[in-house]
Amino acid sequence: MPQENQNLEGPDPAVTLAQAAGLAEHLQRVGVQWLPAADPDSVTALAEQLRSAADGAPERSSEQASAPPAVSPPTVQPAVVQPAVVQPAVVQPVAAGPPAVAAGTVQPSTAGPASGFSLQGDSADPAEPYPGPSLVPDARAAELARFSEQVAACTRCEILSQCRTKTVFGEGNVAPRVVFFGEGPGRDEDLSGRPFVGKAGQLLTKMIQACKFAREDVYIMNTVKCRPPNNRNPEPTEIENCREFFQAQFGILRPEYIVCLGLVSAQALLCTKLSVGRLRGKFHQYFDSKVLVTYHPSYLLRNPAAKKAAWDDLQLMLRDAGLM
Ligand code: SF4
Repeated sequence: MPQENQNLEGPDPAVTLAQAAGLAEHLQRVGVQWLPAADPDSVTALAEQLRSAADGAPERSSEQASAPPAVSPPTVQPAVVQPAVVQPAVVQPVAAGPPAVAAGTVQPSTAGPASGFSLQGDSADPAEPYPGPSLVPDARAAELARFSEQVAACTRCEILSQCRTKTVFGEGNVAPRVVFFGEGPGRDEDLSGRPFVGKAGQLLTKMIQACKFAREDVYIMNTVKCRPPNNRNPEPTEIENCREFFQAQFGILRPEYIVCLGLVSAQALLCTKLSVGRLRGKFHQYFDSKVLVTYHPSYLLRNPAAKKAAWDDLQLMLRDAGLM
């Protein structure tokens, strides 16, 4: 039964070894990476070894032809391609939520934010998603207008409310990808009621445009809504008084990115005492928003050499957003 005997012979070991040697050389030639990565010398040595074995294989006698092969054909493992492990961008969690406002630091307000959208509450944890529903643009505009009216009537900070000409609530796209978050109004802003319209504002506009945005594409706001006298920094109590307003704004806007401009806004939002130098160059987290810290445009006007670092910070955001 010659036909049956042929089927039982199995592969010729000499042919199999020669094929394995050829395959090893071919894989090496076309650059298939083995894991661990194939060492060229080892591959050559293996090929030689296999070829020698093939050359030295005895002629098969007629008896051997019907017997099982003496040498098991080598098993050639398919090249294993390990999936690349992509580390997700690490967003530094905020170490602590907004601090509890010390008793007596918040003046009773007769026109505080309506409870319907206040972020003050036990469930407001900035390591979690923004609480409550995300509003459609018309509803956002209506809520922001409601808070703006309350800010205009606010007298929580005795000094600021008496010194101000106009409150400066904020302006821009109510569904922005980016919110630029500054410190407080200056003289030009106090007179106009609009954020970042002075020299620092002109530089901020250029920074926004360098990001391929228009001012109208983003939202611009400050930590405190009233101008501190003589452009001094806002006092901690004044920041805490205004916290409810800027938190409510972020809760309505829910931007993908918040760019903190300078130390005051960064420390207020992230509840930290770290410097801008320590905070910049990486993302932080505030609810669903990634927070970037960079220098205030006023600082950049005084220290033009820092503009490159500020641009580096913005590029970090642009790369993360897929915009460059
Ligand atoms: S800074 Fe804020 S909390 Fe203080 S008076 Fe102005 S709006 Fe009110």
